[in-house]
Amino acid sequence: MIRFDQVSVTYDGAPAPALADVTLDIPEGELVLLVGPSGVGKSTLLGCVSGLVPHFTGGTLSGSVTVAGRDTRTHRPRDLADLVGTVGQDPAAHFVTDTVEDELAYGMESLGLPPDTMRRRVEETLDLLGLADLRDRPIASLSGGQQQRVAIGSVLTPHPQVLVLDEPTSALDPAAAEEVLAVLQRLVHDLGTTVLMAEHRLERVVQYADQVVLLPGPGEPPVVGAPADVMAV
Ligand code: ADP
Ligand code: ADP
Repeated sequence: MIRFDQVSVTYDGAPAPALADVTLDIPEGELVLLVGPSGVGKSTLLGCVSGLVPHFTGGTLSGSVTVAGRDTRTHRPRDLADLVGTVGQDPAAHFVTDTVEDELAYGMESLGLPPDTMRRRVEETLDLLGLADLRDRPIASLSGGQQQRVAIGSVLTPHPQVLVLDEPTSALDPAAAEEVLAVLQRLVHDLGTTVLMAEHRLERVVQYADQVVLLPGPGEPPVVGAPADVMAV
């Protein structure tokens, strides 16, 4: 589903590449955890999947990244919006509307879907994420875990095949983190979504992962495998 072929990314003025010669294949319908020390290139790798690298962050990309066969060099993030949903650490940074329902609808606005399809997808996503009772609430009045579920919901309504999350639980307490992780696991198992998630609090998330991609250090090739095998490295 996601393929990196000899990918290197160098930011302007940086002494060394942020990612060096990464080759990687992430299969469809798995929850894949991306781990490694701070500064090793996890956000850069996620940005390559969402198309932020190289189109928005600067940085020169060599090699190729394809998502469901679409090459991110020729597809900008908006050309990937129906395919890749991206959620960051801070849900508040994500929101463009005031209420839960409006936020879920907003993600579909550029897709040209008929109004009844949009309404159906909002309903379906409210149910999927356990947000139906909160639909009319101002987002600012919700808890951190609820806000993160709204952020995820807003990128789910276009029905992406891939969901990319950069430390989605890092601002959350353990109970809220579990709410979010349970939702992600349901997406993978019920809808076959491919989830790629960077996380540094491993003990919290590793039980949910099908596969782990470890970036061991700057310039070192990724180690990929089952959680127990990679954790033993
Ligand atoms: P991680 O997510 O693992 O902490 P990042 O991908 O954020 O790693 O960063 C990898 C390296 O690239 C770091 O040295 C970081 O300082 C640098 N970097 C990240 N984003 C940019 C950017 N937009 N411009 C310049 N350097 C960057
Ligand atoms: P439409 O595509 O017209 O919105 P539906 O909302 O009924 O039709 O969804 C069509 C199919 O998409 C259903 O089989 C449903 O299981 C599936 N689906 C629902 N949510 C998602 C999602 N977030 N990502 C991918 N497929 C989804």
